[in-house]
Amino acid sequence: GSVLEIKNLHVSIEDKEILKGVNLTIKGGEFHAIMGPNGTGKSTLASAIMGHPKYEVTEGSIILDGEDVLEMEVDERARAGLFLAMQYPSEISGVTTSDFLRSAINARREEGDEVSLMKFIKQLDKDLDLLEIDQNMATRYLNEGFSGGEKKRNEILQLLQINPAIAILDEIDSGLDIDALKIVSKGINKMRGEDFGCLMITHYQRLLNYITPDFVHVMMQGRVVKSGGPELAKRLEEEGYEWIKEELGITD
Ligand code: ADP
Ligand code: MG
Ligand code: MG
Repeated sequence: GSVLEIKNLHVSIEDKEILKGVNLTIKGGEFHAIMGPNGTGKSTLASAIMGHPKYEVTEGSIILDGEDVLEMEVDERARAGLFLAMQYPSEISGVTTSDFLRSAINARREEGDEVSLMKFIKQLDKDLDLLEIDQNMATRYLNEGFSGGEKKRNEILQLLQINPAIAILDEIDSGLDIDALKIVSKGINKMRGEDFGCLMITHYQRLLNYITPDFVHVMMQGRVVKSGGPELAKRLEEEGYEWIKEELGITD
């Protein structure tokens, strides 16, 4: 499996420092959850890993299997095996979901080794079935006019199809009813294995009832301030974040 190492990561947006020294290592086979109050920099971490131009890394490193991720362009990061399911997926007019998926799959393969149309359609049908997505969706423009729940399912469809080494799922559970949450979780759990590492960003412990994390991290004020196992998420659900603030002497 792959290893993604984030060390002392500092990130600014428009000269305002949002991440203030994040340390985190994700290995193939591991599921990590990051929880934390709104506005603490969880999505900023996700965007910085994927190389969103608005987020400036001012200090620290991101290394994937010994390669410097910060030196890579956005498309190189995807080719290297990184994947982000965005909190707010964008609508892409003029590109069908099916075309988008096929080119994303082929971008990770060598020239001349592109997936055949037959094989692609077969796997796509399987994943559409698993995620209970209407066949028509594949021929619609990516995310255009999709409901919130359809967008989230589509992110997991991409995850299954692209088969990345390390995935970051930013609030994949937000806005989902319980049935949709179960379906999305089923898709994510299907990825489990030594060749897949996952970072789930979530506001609520609910998702973690369906996808048991190996590690739970709490992010506050731009840092990972506490790490533990699944029991940490349960305690956060019951008691909120105040006790951590007290324990660490954080005031705001
Ligand atoms: P979280 O995901 O934990 O809710 P974010 O990473 O979205 O937090 O935001 C962290 C901080 O950075 C917030 O204060 C937010 O207002 C600010 N921020 C995030 N994205 C942008 C942006 N694109 N432009 C300006 N400020 C931003
Ligand atoms: Mg938020
Ligand atoms: Mg966020």
